[in-house]
Amino acid sequence: MGRRWELPEFSSPVSLLRFHPLIKRSRWGGTLLAERFQKPTGHAPNVGESWELCDHTTDQTCVKNGVWAGKTLQELISGRRREILGRHASHTRFPLLLKFLDVHDYLSVQVHPNDAQAKAYFPGELGKNEAWVILEAHPDSRVFAGLKSGVDEYCLRAALAEGRVAELLHAEPVVPGDVLFIPAGTVHALTPGLLLAEVQQASVQTYRLYDWDRPGENGLPRELHIERALACIDFTRGPIKRTSAQILETCCNRVENLVESSWFVVRRHSGTGSVLLEEDNRFRVIMVLQGQGIVRSGELAEHLDCGETLLVCAQRPPTIVLPQSGFEWLEIYLP
Ligand SMILES: [Zn+2]
Repeated sequence: MGRRWELPEFSSPVSLLRFHPLIKRSRWGGTLLAERFQKPTGHAPNVGESWELCDHTTDQTCVKNGVWAGKTLQELISGRRREILGRHASHTRFPLLLKFLDVHDYLSVQVHPNDAQAKAYFPGELGKNEAWVILEAHPDSRVFAGLKSGVDEYCLRAALAEGRVAELLHAEPVVPGDVLFIPAGTVHALTPGLLLAEVQQASVQTYRLYDWDRPGENGLPRELHIERALACIDFTRGPIKRTSAQILETCCNRVENLVESSWFVVRRHSGTGSVLLEEDNRFRVIMVLQGQGIVRSGELAEHLDCGETLLVCAQRPPTIVLPQSGFEWLEIYLP
């Protein structure tokens, strides 16, 4: 932590940063991250996640372009926090974790802690509020999001003992384009046939309630964390529905406010007109959902393809997003 290095040129333009993703295999993953987004999966058959931007202990994405190539996100935050985070420079690590997920099999039924709970269990850890943007879904796909109304701890414990937890989960049908915000404390799971973008706090605190009575990759059941999960569940929350976005439309652009939370804001852009990023001393993350476009920042330009992610630093020259063909992208930032 805190290691600094000398920049080659202080004036070198550094406002647009691309990263090598961290490719994560898991028993529920598939092959779509390579097929749709050309992620470097080494043709492994069960890749669940591409971590596009991550600064969490030893999980570090490294810069791919420009004078900072090879540096980890933590090194950038340690050395250049003000340039990158701007008005959010009080964060000592990058506060968000951005992923693409290929869900080929059921994810465990799980819950994440809020900030206070995470800190109590693991000092220094964040809680995990997360949002899903569904990119592909089988016709009968759904997500488990929240408990059915009226399910209390007593009901849930009984169902866990009898292996019938799924009966108590709210199953929300989803189609491509749908968005869900899953607050910390919500029981949830993803079901097969989904490709999605995930925006979350930079945390790995996941407590498994139930893993569908199946073996993990080593043939043994994966560890469950039932007591900790039960302690984190908000039993008053009930079912979580798809969000209904506020839509702003102009002649050639469409902007949807998908999520506005205390932890992150997510907007989805589509259309053919250029978009000037607001000069508000906030960083932006751009995740490309479809098509191609160009981001221009002063003298720099980066061509972006479907499935790519770009970090736009808070301190930047005027920065403009120029759609090429069928460009659809997420704009993610801190409130
Ligand atoms: Zn989760």
